[in-house]
Amino acid sequence: MPTYEFRCLECGHIVRRFYTYAEYDSARPSCSHCESTNLRRLISRVALAKSEESRLESLDPESMIAGLDENDPKSMGHFMRKLSTEMGEDMGDEFSEVVERLEKGESPESIESSMPELSAGPSDGL
Ligand SMILES: [Zn+2]
Repeated sequence: MPTYEFRCLECGHIVRRFYTYAEYDSARPSCSHCESTNLRRLISRVALAKSEESRLESLDPESMIAGLDENDPKSMGHFMRKLSTEMGEDMGDEFSEVVERLEKGESPESIESSMPELSAGPSDGL
C-alpha cells in the first residue's frame, strides 16, 4: 500500500498516511498535530522504495542517475552494469544478458519480449 507524506502548512508537522490509490482520491488527510487540513503533499521516494533501498542508500543514486538517459539503451545498460558492480553482487545470467543487450543498443521492450521470464515471477528490485 502506498505511503503518502504531507507537510502541515500550519505547524510544519510531517504526516504519513497509508492509502490505496482509490482511497487517495477522496482522502482528506488532516494534521495529527494541529488537525489542520492545510497539508501539502510531499513527493516521497516511493518510486525508489523497493527492497534494495537500504542498500542503495549507501551508494549515491543521484550521481549515478545523473548521466542516465532512459531513452538510450546503451546508457541504461551502462547504468545497470555500474549498479551491479557497485553493489558487489552477481546479479545472475539474466541480468548480465539484459545489460549486454542494452549496451549493444537493443531496446528494453525488445529484450523483455524475448525474455518472458523477466516479467514473470516476483520482481526483486530492478
Ligand atoms: Zn499541523
